[in-house]
Amino acid sequence: MRASELFCPTLREVPSEAEVVSHQLLVRAGFIRKTTAGVYTYLPLGFRVIKKIEEIVREEMNRAGAQELLMPIIQPAELWQKSGRWDIYGDEMFRLTDRHDRYFALGPTHEEIITAIVDGDVHSYRDLPLLLYQIQNKYRDEIRPRFGLMRGREFIMKDLYSFDTDEEGLEISYKKMYEAYTRIYDRLNLKYRVVEADPGAIGGNESHEFMVLANNGESQIVYCDNCDYSANVEKAPCMAEEMQETDEEIHDLEKIHTPGQKTIQDIAERFAIPRRRQVKTLIYWADGELVAVCLRGDRELNEIKLKNILKCNQLFMADEQLVKQSCGAGVGSLGPVGMDLKVYVDLEVPAMKNFTCGANEDDYHFMNVNMGRDFVPEGVVDIRNAVEGDQCPVCRQGCLKTARGIEVGHIFKLGTKYSQAMGATFLDKNGQEKPMVMGCYGIGISRTMAAAVEQNNDENGIIWPLSIAPYQVIIIPVNNRKTEQMDTAEFIYKELRKRGIETIIDDRDERAGVKFKDADLIGIPIKITVGPKSLQANQVEVKKRWEDKVEMLDISTITEKVIDIINS
Ligand code: ATP
Ligand code: MG
Repeated sequence: MRASELFCPTLREVPSEAEVVSHQLLVRAGFIRKTTAGVYTYLPLGFRVIKKIEEIVREEMNRAGAQELLMPIIQPAELWQKSGRWDIYGDEMFRLTDRHDRYFALGPTHEEIITAIVDGDVHSYRDLPLLLYQIQNKYRDEIRPRFGLMRGREFIMKDLYSFDTDEEGLEISYKKMYEAYTRIYDRLNLKYRVVEADPGAIGGNESHEFMVLANNGESQIVYCDNCDYSANVEKAPCMAEEMQETDEEIHDLEKIHTPGQKTIQDIAERFAIPRRRQVKTLIYWADGELVAVCLRGDRELNEIKLKNILKCNQLFMADEQLVKQSCGAGVGSLGPVGMDLKVYVDLEVPAMKNFTCGANEDDYHFMNVNMGRDFVPEGVVDIRNAVEGDQCPVCRQGCLKTARGIEVGHIFKLGTKYSQAMGATFLDKNGQEKPMVMGCYGIGISRTMAAAVEQNNDENGIIWPLSIAPYQVIIIPVNNRKTEQMDTAEFIYKELRKRGIETIIDDRDERAGVKFKDADLIGIPIKITVGPKSLQANQVEVKKRWEDKVEMLDISTITEKVIDIINS
């Protein structure tokens, strides 16, 4: 490719709305442009990266025995009604009507479509297992589209669905995908971790997420410093921590006046009561019912765990007005004592003696509250987020550590949830009708592109891993008005292209500094500079984007050297 002809509009300025480095760099380096919130155009270089990621994913899916197909983006409401998800998918689904007022969705995922296809055409155990996948745009009206390609409303996903005759079959399909994903992220050269995950709204019972490690990642991960346990914090179970004050004497309940003191921090400062000796109470709206949840003052509620415990579809924190109406006090004065709603307390609360909490009366708190004596909860449940230093729930010896990650892949065992709802059955060896056992496996192609940049960059720009770089080599003649430099650059360009190496020649009539800056910004892995000094010795400069070192190499050996770097 000639830089003079390439459509790659680079910017000197950082776009103001771009909060994370991958978003900033992908826009600045001319890889993507925003069309509207969460919807992007991939410019030529960006599109090449997407195609490369897709190709690696495709190769590994095919290697695992899967077959590619392409399903429609427009999906009729009837299929979603059949699975029961039309009503529960919620606002994330883009819905539309046709001229006859029939309802449709823009596909956020394709379990319904694929299950209907397989149901229609697969009837015997002889036709199973089946692994079917596609690479396609997905549509989700995310509440907060952000971070560029990381959380889009239109994004590219590889989604694969497995159909087996039984659980053992599913186990094999799942393992195949787990291994294929590992190969994919190894080939992409990204640092990642596989973590246990909450199966969430899609349903099913076991799932793993592939997390690219990055400080800006939206997901919080915990892992054990002793065994190989690793989980999304959404999923990680907590042990009831042994409180130190176990032989503490129980005191009389005391009501205290706390005007204007509405937070755990306010009480901690005013009465010198540490946050871990207080209990906070939150009110949630769960499918129409209000519930109160209590946990230690220094803990964070885990909404995913709460949702699973309440078995509800929709869960929101109640707003101030709703809280006032139902509890008679504002959010800063709530507590389990005398609470009219069902109260769920975290596992740690029973062991807390003489704690402080709101009195369900504005400007009042209770001190010396004790569960059992002062209130009896509906349930004692695990509803807090695991934190650094917690005991490992698996080996019980190590301590948990935390890290942040970007969820780039997600694999689920679905079981028979969809096949049962949609009647996707087959006849087994004995002629008995059984529901197919399913799994589903997603990879965020466009999110992976952002994750690669998030993990590979410096102050000058992107550092693409060789396997997905838009071009592998860029040749820069320092001064393209000097015939000798230009001729040498053109010669190397021709030689590299002959060997199938994807190369850009920067033939623009620009200052050398501008060319170097752009080359670093767009992150081409191998840079060959043709300058006057090196040419005297029949040499050129070769620099890898991820190293500072510059090598002088003979022009005659350059092609082999580049091939060596690419293969190593
Ligand atoms: P998240 O928790 O980030 O919303 P999810 O659990 O909704 O993700 P899945 O339904 O499992 O995601 O989708 C499979 C993959 O698609 C995810 O692992 C992720 O890589 C990608 N993905 C999901 N939502 C988005 C999005 N809004 N923008 C870009 N990629 C996405
Ligand atoms: Mg989501």
